[in-house]
Amino acid sequence: MKCNMQGCTGEYEERTITHTLRQRGQVVVIDHVPAEVCPICGDVLLKPETVQHIEELLKKASQPDASVPLYEYV
Ligand SMILES: [Zn+2]
Repeated sequence: MKCNMQGCTGEYEERTITHTLRQRGQVVVIDHVPAEVCPICGDVLLKPETVQHIEELLKKASQPDASVPLYEYV
């Protein structure tokens, strides 16, 4: 599929990404999320079912499987 970004000639590729989101003010990172990624501009598309899966996963998850260091850009 062609990239949605104006002027970009890239085609989305199936990849797994590290998805970062904010939930109730907390930064949450989910690894190995299937997504469509444009190799040229880096635009990322998540399928609606993937977004739904993440929401369900976060509802059920109590303890994370791992934690990551988080640094502020200062
Ligand atoms: Zn692109």
